[in-house]
Amino acid sequence: MSTTYDDASAWFEANWDPTISLGDWWARLADAGYAFPRWPEIAGGRSFNKAESAAITRARRDVGAYGPPNGVATFLVAPTLFQYGTAEQQERYLPAIVDGTVRWCQLFSEPGYGSDMAGLATSAELDGDEWTVNGQKVWNSGAHYADFAILIARTDPDQPKHKGITFFLFDMRQPGVEVRPLREMTGDAAFNEVFMTDARVHESDRLGDVGAGWHVAMTTLSHERNPENPGLSETAPFGEVKLSLPVGEHAGAEARNVDGFSISLSGGGGALFDRVINETEAWTNPLMRQRLAELTSMRRIGRWSNERTAARMKAGVQPGPEVSTQKINGAEMSRRMRDLGLEAMGAKGMLWSDDTPTDGVFHRFAMFTPANSIAGGTDEVMRNVLGERVLGLPREPGESDQREKPWKDLPKG
Ligand SMILES: Cc1cc2nc3c(=O)[nH]c(=O)nc-3n(C[C@H](O)[C@H](O)[C@H](O)COP(=O)(O)OP(=O)(O)OC[C@H]3O[C@@H](n4cnc5c(N)ncnc54)[C@H](O)[C@@H]3O)c2cc1C
Repeated sequence: MSTTYDDASAWFEANWDPTISLGDWWARLADAGYAFPRWPEIAGGRSFNKAESAAITRARRDVGAYGPPNGVATFLVAPTLFQYGTAEQQERYLPAIVDGTVRWCQLFSEPGYGSDMAGLATSAELDGDEWTVNGQKVWNSGAHYADFAILIARTDPDQPKHKGITFFLFDMRQPGVEVRPLREMTGDAAFNEVFMTDARVHESDRLGDVGAGWHVAMTTLSHERNPENPGLSETAPFGEVKLSLPVGEHAGAEARNVDGFSISLSGGGGALFDRVINETEAWTNPLMRQRLAELTSMRRIGRWSNERTAARMKAGVQPGPEVSTQKINGAEMSRRMRDLGLEAMGAKGMLWSDDTPTDGVFHRFAMFTPANSIAGGTDEVMRNVLGERVLGLPREPGESDQREKPWKDLPKG
């Protein structure tokens, strides 16, 4: 009896061709249902479980074939569209996410409204069958190459802050959208400021009801905080990719070009860390062994809770506020891996070059590590979510008042 691995292996053997373009390769993967096998059929997936999907990834790696697209489109937009998109919106947007031809970014955070995202000030006003959008967003990963964005904007300032927000699918390639890159300490300019002046979005690109944007955004964020998100890939970088280049060139450059963002989000930091520990034989140091043992326990617990989330998702339960535990745990583990990994390298841990263990890729992961405690909700905010929405503890002082007053009467900034 043939297994998922055997079938996938035969397909990759027959179809992997490093000389075709990246665009053609991603189209082949999408047609075969091997791009995102855990996704539903509507998105070109096969509704496979985690083990089946892992078998496909193994078969792909054994043949040396390049992975599927990666980014905001695959790990945030697609699962939000599964849940809230109309059939027409799903048909319009999902195919170009699966084959990587359309790139997306997330326009949620604003200056002054990061953790307090519900206080956001960007406005959208209905004008005929279009909305006019004005305001500024910040820290928007990939906005400099994105074709579309998921955007939340205030559509009713007379409502309390959580109730007057609406969620849109927003065209980034239009007049009135200005993107200004910001440089991070990794040296990459992965995120941006985005200014919108009388930009337009059609009514048919509203996702969910008017005023229900907060709930839709919470769904997006629960996927962002979920380490079991099937839309994350460990191969393709989050950054801009050239669809016309031969896919073999991408595959060849993969190990070096990979950015801290992709490594952290896909959990690839663990494999890199193991390589560093093995190559440096750090376990021969008794003090190091003790800290490695602690980290190993954390990683096992993390794996166990990730598997539970995966099983619940397979049973149709979408990730909720409880995934904040995994996000906090992931951030803590990556900090410990960073510290132990760099220490294990000795003097080479202090270098910033390709001439270090893992060709500098671990250093890129290490430099990105602080972002894991911030992006998608800070550790402190995750603890508030767990306290209030999972354990049912009282809300923060003053929060109830803020939840009931109209947004226009709240202090701003
Ligand atoms: C790498 C990276 C990528 C990102 N990509 C995107 C993106 O694509 N799109 C997007 O919209 N945003 C993005 N963000 C922004 C991210 O969501 C925000 O940075 C995050 O929500 C925190 O908001 P802030 O930066 O405004 O910090 P603030 O909210 O100003 O927080 C500052 C500090 O105060 C603490 N704090 C705030 N409120 C509370 C509270 N109630 N209780 C306890 N402590 C509190 C925080 O924990 C933090 O330590 C990204 C961020 C990073 C680092």
